[in-house]
Amino acid sequence: MAEQKTPLHAPTQVLTRGFDPRLSVGSARPAVFRSSTYVFSSPEAAERAFDLVGGRATPVPGEQPDLIYSRFNHPNAEILEAQIVPLETGAKAALVFNSGMAAIVTALFAVLAPGDAILYTVPIYGGTQKLIEDFLATWGVTGVAVRAGDSVGIDEAIRSTPKLRVILIETPANPTLVMTDIVRAAATAWERPEARPLIFVDNTMLGPAFQHPLQLGADLVLYSATKFLSGFSDLLGGVALAHDPALLRKLRSKRNFLGNILQPDECWMLNQRLPTVGLRMNRASKNAHRIAERIAMHPAVKKVLYPAQFDDPTQIQIRNAQCDYPGAVFSLDLHGGKPPAFAFLRKLKLVYNAVSLGGVETLVCHPRTTTHSGFTEKQFVEAGITEGLVRISVGTEDWRDLLQDFEQALSE
Ligand SMILES: *Cc1c(COP(=O)(O)O)cnc(C)c1O
Repeated sequence: MAEQKTPLHAPTQVLTRGFDPRLSVGSARPAVFRSSTYVFSSPEAAERAFDLVGGRATPVPGEQPDLIYSRFNHPNAEILEAQIVPLETGAKAALVFNSGMAAIVTALFAVLAPGDAILYTVPIYGGTQKLIEDFLATWGVTGVAVRAGDSVGIDEAIRSTPKLRVILIETPANPTLVMTDIVRAAATAWERPEARPLIFVDNTMLGPAFQHPLQLGADLVLYSATKFLSGFSDLLGGVALAHDPALLRKLRSKRNFLGNILQPDECWMLNQRLPTVGLRMNRASKNAHRIAERIAMHPAVKKVLYPAQFDDPTQIQIRNAQCDYPGAVFSLDLHGGKPPAFAFLRKLKLVYNAVSLGGVETLVCHPRTTTHSGFTEKQFVEAGITEGLVRISVGTEDWRDLLQDFEQALSE
């Protein structure tokens, strides 16, 4: 490729980076390589490849080691990892996993040891919460939960928790959309530079289009690629991105034996979706914004939980500082609790009642009885997950059709 004077922009790089058509018999788009093992170019090349994958050597710039075996790496993972980097502002490297949970588990295994502590915002994704509270606890890792958006509480916990290794922030929180200040948590973490806890951000809800945690002080960004990145509710995937390749090498060595690399077909599918993630998210966010504004005036709706509708000054300040657009997910708190919430779900004609989010199709669920049903009463109150709450992930349909469906489902 000709030398570029200025670095290419992300929408261009996502189509060109790390892909050489000559390695795909001239195919203009990547082919699928389903082989589980790769033929070495020489015994010396095999030896070098094993030294690199075993961490006994570090690659020299521009080196292209032989592929070995698909649990370590394969062409579709390498292409996907190269092409996803430009989408995450500030990232230098990426790793792909066979689900969002696989990315989160591997990231935590890579940096935590027995005796360490992890701070995490709540509400957090249910699988992440179980991992920390039910599993890591039995391996001697202390979990410290702090309320999303509670900057003072987070500062205090960072200062007072011994052997704090990781601060895991999920922002905005699901399903309440409460935001946590990444810049502030990172600044507090830097108060102890000798043993600075790492900042991990689950960026599934607003990234990669609208929120850029690596620019706000995060060390690692995690995704459920099952959501907006893939965007069609037809595959499971996860991604970890960082500016420090050494941090990702730690995750890679765990992925090598956990065997949770994303498989070639899924890598290929996800790779095909990358050039449109910004288009899809922009359209879905515009839709959600228009619908949220109008549905807030409906008499059946007590409150709309959506970044564009924030009324708390601190939340507004965090939103303005850390997100470009409000995103495609909002929740409605309905008057009268569970019966009207269930009636709403039953009456929807166009929109499906299903968990998950980030697809081109609009999905609605009742978090209290589904995604968050394992919560205790105290956790429900703290998180603000009421009986009348329904979460809506808006897709790319025409927003007027969606609004009409919501309005008819809210009517008596
Ligand atoms: C869905 C989700 C996960 C888990 O991802 P999977 O791909 O289902 O494993 C983690 N975090 C958030 C915020 C999610 O929405």
